This record gives sequence, C-alpha cells and structure tokens, in this order.
Amino acid sequence: MKDEKGLLIVLSGPAGVGKGTVCNALRGVDTEIEYSVSATTRQPREGEANGVNYFFKTKQEFEQMIEENKLLEWAKYVDNYYGTPLDYVVETIEKGRDIILEIEVQGAKKVKERYPEGIFIFLMPPSLAELRSRIVGRGTENEDLINKRMTVAREELEMMENYDYVVENDEVDKAVDRIQAIVTAEHCKKDRL
Ligand code: 5GP
Repeated sequence: MKDEKGLLIVLSGPAGVGKGTVCNALRGVDTEIEYSVSATTRQPREGEANGVNYFFKTKQEFEQMIEENKLLEWAKYVDNYYGTPLDYVVETIEKGRDIILEIEVQGAKKVKERYPEGIFIFLMPPSLAELRSRIVGRGTENEDLINKRMTVAREELEMMENYDYVVENDEVDKAVDRIQAIVTAEHCKKDRL
C-alpha cells in the first residue's frame, strides 16, 4: 500500500455546535487518530490544563509564533488568538498517523489554502436556535459574548460549501460514528492504494 502519509483531518463548524465534545468523544473511542493541541491567548476555563486542552500563551508569545512561522494557521476569534502549531501536524502525518484539528472556520479556510489534500468536515448544528441555547446552557459566556458568537455562527453556516463532508451533530455518538466512517472511507480511496 502507498498509504504512507497520514490524513490531515479538519473538524470545523460554528461556535457552540459541539466540536470540542465530539472531538473528545472521538478521542475516547478512536486511539488511531492523533489530536492537535492549539495555542491560544484566551484564559483557561475551569478544568483546562496547559498542554492538554491548549497551550496558553500571552499575546506577545502568540505574535512571536506567527512571526516565526510556527503556526499552520491562526485566527483571531472573539478577541483572542487561536492557532495550530505546525511542527506536530507535519511530524504526525509524515509518520503515517492521522491527525485531527478542531478549529473554527476562518482557520479551516487557511488550512484548505495551504493543504488542499486535507479532509474537511463541517459539523452542523440541528438548528441555529438550538445552537444559541447550547451556548447559553454552557453558562461560561455573558450576553454580549453570546450575541457576538451568534453573529459569527450565522456567517459560518454559509461557509459549508467549502467542505468535503457535512456531519450533523444531532447526537454525539452518531456524529462520532459518521466521522469514523469518513476516515475509513478516505483510507479506502483507490488513489491512496
Ligand atoms: P474555545 O474558546 O471555546 O475553546 O474555542 C473557540 C473557538 O476556537 C472554537 O470554535 C474552536 O474550535 C476554535 N479553535 C480552537 N483551536 C483553534 C485553532 O488552533 N485555530 C483556529 N482557527 N481555531 C481554533
């Protein structure tokens, strides 16, 4: 089999759609896929650890990473920087391991420009109304931030056409099954043999 390089899989979609939850659930059942840990300038939430959920950086540190070309992509999202460290992604796919990036849509677009052979999966909320109550239900954001996130979410839904796959997140387990099916199908593609 020619299948020597791993797949770069991008899981994106609107804020609050459950990308993090689906990604964690996938992590629980699928030990074959590696996960990229992003850098961010936002403050850690309760229970989050440096190097596990994110690499927490100051604005200055982050801007230095941008300057030194250490990020595969980065985006400014709701007043904070988020970005994917480049080295780990490259090392992982070169080793023949698949890696998944859970990122917002601006960043996904940049990855698509730089790495068009990636697999782009859009996680879709059952409805925008449900999306709002999920964000409110999380209880970590104030009203102003919620409204900002909703505006971003509407724009994000329009970006679906740039993706290879759309997975509805009606139930986490079903979304995870669908993603695993996509990854399996990608490995079975005749041009990878
Ligand atoms: P949160 O602050 O809720 O952890 O994440 C906010 C948004 O940033 C989510 O949509 C998440 O997917 C996205 N995000 C996390 N890491 C990255 C990254 O490395 N790059 C980009 N572009 N977005 C990211």
